[in-house]
Amino acid sequence: MFGIHSSSFQRAFFGLCAAILLLPSTNWSQYPGYQQAADYTMTIDLDTTLHQYHGEMTVVLKNNSPDALNRAYFHLFFNAFQPGSMMDIRSRTIVDPDSRVGDRIGELPEDEWGWIHVENLQVNGKPVQFDHDGTLLDVTLNAPIGSGKKATFKMEWDAQVPRQIRRSGWMNKEGIEYSMTQWYPKLCEYDHDGWHTEPYIGREFHGIWSDYDVTINLPAGYLVGGTGTLNGQEDASISSGAWHFTAENIDFAWAADPDYIHTTEQLDDVTLNFYHQANPDFDAAWEGLPGYTAKAMAFLNDLVGPYPYPQYTVIQGGDGGMEYPMATLVTGNRSERSLIGVTVHEMAHSWFQAVLATNESLYEFMDEGMTSYVTSLCMSHLFTEAMAGKNPHRSSYSSYISQALSGQEEPLITHADHYQTNRAYGVAAYSKGEVLLAQLGAVMGDAARDEGLKTYFKEWAFKHPGPTEFKRVMEKTCGMDLDWYFQYFMQTTHQIDASIESIEAGNDTLTITLARPGVMPMPVDLLVTYTDGSEDAFHIPLVMMRGHRPLEENEFLLDDWAWTHPTYTIEWPTSKSIQRVDIDPLRKTADVHRANNSVVFDTQKSQQFLRN
Ligand SMILES: [Zn+2]
Repeated sequence: MFGIHSSSFQRAFFGLCAAILLLPSTNWSQYPGYQQAADYTMTIDLDTTLHQYHGEMTVVLKNNSPDALNRAYFHLFFNAFQPGSMMDIRSRTIVDPDSRVGDRIGELPEDEWGWIHVENLQVNGKPVQFDHDGTLLDVTLNAPIGSGKKATFKMEWDAQVPRQIRRSGWMNKEGIEYSMTQWYPKLCEYDHDGWHTEPYIGREFHGIWSDYDVTINLPAGYLVGGTGTLNGQEDASISSGAWHFTAENIDFAWAADPDYIHTTEQLDDVTLNFYHQANPDFDAAWEGLPGYTAKAMAFLNDLVGPYPYPQYTVIQGGDGGMEYPMATLVTGNRSERSLIGVTVHEMAHSWFQAVLATNESLYEFMDEGMTSYVTSLCMSHLFTEAMAGKNPHRSSYSSYISQALSGQEEPLITHADHYQTNRAYGVAAYSKGEVLLAQLGAVMGDAARDEGLKTYFKEWAFKHPGPTEFKRVMEKTCGMDLDWYFQYFMQTTHQIDASIESIEAGNDTLTITLARPGVMPMPVDLLVTYTDGSEDAFHIPLVMMRGHRPLEENEFLLDDWAWTHPTYTIEWPTSKSIQRVDIDPLRKTADVHRANNSVVFDTQKSQQFLRN
């Protein structure tokens, strides 16, 4: 906006360079062009003495892929909760075990194991061959399911609900009787990346958006909450023990306890449901929760896009907090702030895990990281006073930076199950993922990033987008090339570190030399503060961006910095005396060494400076 017209400070405005429009659409062939569809009708009879249930279902799979399918696979998640399972061995051998799991699976007595045993399976009316293989059922079809064709699977199975270890199970530590998540044989996803048949080791999920008609029969007196819409009256279901839910475009999760208290809150046409057990220490927190949840949903509707389902349910159950479409199970014995925090995070998943539904095993940061990013903004909004003046994303920046400096960081594109440590997974998925979005503000500008996020949700809802789709929306929103940003930040562990190498304050020229000790290039914001209190702000784009973010008022645009050039020198005509010089004064970048970003002069015009 305010370019300098001296030879040293030529404006480097590229605008919407034609080169961008001519770039090949990388990975365009990977754009999801179809979605599989599955329609489940099931009846479940739960024996609450043995913690076992019998299930019968019909699943109609519509193969919308261009390929004929010779096999089919079902997830049998409950089989993970047996001694010797992959989840058990993994949680006992990883160097930093999750304390919620540890060796608990290995210690389970047999009547507390989880298992699913398929008794009968027919496809299109004929028996088929199938094998139980850990947490998967491998089905050999009698005839391929052609592209565009439907197949009807008819299945009967028995299952034992595991003692609560993670997410699913009976009788968790807060006394909730049934947390039923990833609890039934679920068809594996086949998409543009092929089959997704990951053995379950307790991490992420990827599946088909499906429609459900579920009837659950259990003893009278239980209250059942979950995904979908209850057909009929709740009181009648409590008395009869028969619960009938229907839902579209989801996975199906539920919980049951005779002592649940059910409250509701309305936000426009979305009903918010809350289920918890009375507990004098935590009742006040649960009474405050509905109001905050409604405010949070309104905020997220505005920030990302409209919540598309008819209801959302918050259930005391499971462990910590885990997101499902239209529902979350969270532990409930928490302070109000903690209960609101976990609810906001899990509900925020609705936009990323449920609706966009990126394959979170492959790109966990596009689920957890994006969710964490909007959660931080939402918590700032809900607790404006407490958060005043604080960067909502500060804790993610610091946890990412400390992991990067530890040398234990693994690239963001590591498969969620395959990180060497739980910590490397957690920091990458949650913290670095959040930073990736927040930091885009430094690259393309905050307003463009915010607009891009809305466009991304609108264009890719219910299509399973991946990183390329997100990157392209952001590129089109800002008109710049962002390949370099995603390549460096997603695919490598190279770090950002810009530094001030030298400052020479002559009589009428200020000369500043910057360097880039970190390998990852970034555009640089530079602020010079004079002793009279005035300031000059500069923006230095990267050549690779083919453009620059919108300038702030009175901000000067400098020449682009080529990534091949280790240093960059500015000569600025001024005779004012310098107070200090700062790189990235608003701390928008995850610069791993802040100490070399600022130089403060101890006296006017002094050539000596203190590195702070
Ligand atoms: Zn999460």
